[in-house]
Amino acid sequence: MSLADHHKILFEPVAIGPKILRNRFYNVPHGTAYGVLRPSTWASYRAVRAEGGWAAVSAEFSSVGPSSDEFPLHSSDIWDDEDGRRHKLMVDSVHRHGALAGIELHHGGAHAMRRVSREPAFSASGLAPELPPPAGPLGTPKVMTVDDIERIEQAFADAAVRARDVGYDIVEVLAGYGYLFAQFLSTFHNRRTDEYGGSLENRARFWLETLGRVRDAVGDDCAIATRLSIETQGPWGHSIDDSVALVRMADPLVDLWDLNVGSVLDWGSDISPSRVIPEGRNLELFARVRQATKKPVVGVSRWTSPDLMAQAVRSGVIDIVGSARQSIADPFFPQKVREGRIEDIRECMGINHCISSLDRGNMTCAQNATAGEEYRRGWHPERFEPLSRPDVSVLVVGAGPAGMEAAIGLAKRGADMVHLVDSVDQLGGHLGPVVRLPGLREWGRFIDHRMIQIDKLPNLQFIPSTRLSADDVRDYGASHVVVATGARWLGTGLTPGTHEPLQGVVEGASWVFTPDELLVRGKRPAEKSHVTVYDAEGGYMGTSIAQLLADEGYKVSVVTPHSQVAAEGDLTLEGPAVRASLHSSGVAMYREVSLTSARPEGVIGVGEFDQPFSLKSDALVLVTMRSPIDDLYQELTIDREALHEAGIEAVYCIGDALSPRPLAEAMFDGHRLAVPGHDIGSGEPG
Ligand code: ADP
Repeated sequence: MSLADHHKILFEPVAIGPKILRNRFYNVPHGTAYGVLRPSTWASYRAVRAEGGWAAVSAEFSSVGPSSDEFPLHSSDIWDDEDGRRHKLMVDSVHRHGALAGIELHHGGAHAMRRVSREPAFSASGLAPELPPPAGPLGTPKVMTVDDIERIEQAFADAAVRARDVGYDIVEVLAGYGYLFAQFLSTFHNRRTDEYGGSLENRARFWLETLGRVRDAVGDDCAIATRLSIETQGPWGHSIDDSVALVRMADPLVDLWDLNVGSVLDWGSDISPSRVIPEGRNLELFARVRQATKKPVVGVSRWTSPDLMAQAVRSGVIDIVGSARQSIADPFFPQKVREGRIEDIRECMGINHCISSLDRGNMTCAQNATAGEEYRRGWHPERFEPLSRPDVSVLVVGAGPAGMEAAIGLAKRGADMVHLVDSVDQLGGHLGPVVRLPGLREWGRFIDHRMIQIDKLPNLQFIPSTRLSADDVRDYGASHVVVATGARWLGTGLTPGTHEPLQGVVEGASWVFTPDELLVRGKRPAEKSHVTVYDAEGGYMGTSIAQLLADEGYKVSVVTPHSQVAAEGDLTLEGPAVRASLHSSGVAMYREVSLTSARPEGVIGVGEFDQPFSLKSDALVLVTMRSPIDDLYQELTIDREALHEAGIEAVYCIGDALSPRPLAEAMFDGHRLAVPGHDIGSGEPG
């Protein structure tokens, strides 16, 4: 296998100011929540991307001083020499693998969180109502004086020098996402009457002066870049036409343009979920800006296909492929393209688990268990240490995300034999029917990637359509057994909040449905029924089922005790689009409502203030919680002697069978079992 001709363009070097990118793959700034607070985790995470072939690996937004303290968010501050030392650890680790290291200097202005520094926020002007930071403290920001502007410009120059001194090759100034410079560019925020307000030239002055200072400070040693959000929605944004003019103005000051779309207020336009925005969507907008510059342009657009990437470069619209999520899912993406191993690429699914986990304080990935574990656990996305005792024969029962991941890991580590057995005829477990839900087709990349790996591993066999009992398992002849039998949706209406079944619900009654009955067994309410979907879980399932049934012609209502319909979707940035789609499909939505009872003719509940709620309907879909299917594990482990007689050294329970959790966690469980640190093949009992 070798580099395909039509991908060769992706491996041409590109000069950016005084530096050379070894190819056209640019790992753009993206948050990790590791940063300077967990410097070793951060350094190892970034190093693996450099090792995987990215030409540049960038740190996340790095605030230049206390007035832009972003705690508890995930900025990697570069305020002083101690911060610098932490950055250096990362920079050195990236350099060791031949990549350039980039930093994105940042000030949040009115959006800065300032929880630790407790400084007042800055705003461009006092005449416009300021937008509060998404989760920040209350208050009206301080209007920046010309002295404040001067101090912040100097803070950027000082931070740039600190960055240069610790070895950064590329210094970016962040002028996007609705942060400080974008606030100055916006006529919504900026109503100043001095030389920093009014015309577009005046509104750009602060940004241009800062770029000039940064260039003067480090431009001989570093490539100077700026990230510009070229179209942002809402009154606070700026238009694509403004962006074209801005690119012309700043062009002499930069060596590289880093373009994206969207702001903190429409973040889903930048971190586009696959169920809402197709790959490559930004290209049309980038084409408009291209006319204004001959400098290299890096552009992001949820790229995952090397064909589309090469096409985008060939079209001349972008010079460099910008990527965050694909680099999280597969750090070795460039190397695999170079080696012509396209089928081995672990494609990003665009489900934005990275974003929701980042906002919860630790970025993780639903495709790649090793992301963020490179240091603490020493995991590597491509290297699998041989088993210390490979003479193991492993039976994995259940070919869902957990079972597949465990089986692949153990086979890659050289187990003599791994059999992956499932009662149904295909791989994927609970994910199989999920990918047929409206908009979730790309979630199938999880299964596709693993199916290809399973096909390639000679010591791993998938055995479909075989349900195993405890006796079958004992008779199988395996030395180690992994039970990954998944979970089932409860049909009783019990929720984590009530700990009680929903009054009136008769499990299995003709008017009561669970996701399993609808998606796995294909059951449906009578035609034209009014269906209530009770989504006490708040993940993707409830609203996806509501959309499916609405598309099939049912009259659908969603009732949720959460403060928002598709509550989790607001963290994965899908929420607004999901709700808009339900609304336009005629689905009625009720939030902050807990059901108290259900009958064949309708449901009864209470609202936030105990106010009564009732809704007539003919069928009820319960999306409340899942319980583990662990009977096989219990039956096996209760009789240790029988296991011993059968020659079974250890039995493990993983994934949803252990504790039903999101996809990323079930997969992580499988990976953890397979890699060193656990005991399969070490002779220790499980
Ligand atoms: P996880 O998310 O933990 O990987 P899933 O629910 O996705 O779990 O997958 C569990 C799989 O286990 C399902 O495909 C199911 O058919 C299979 N399974 C459950 N019990 C048995 C059994 N006794 N024998 C074989 N396969 C089983």
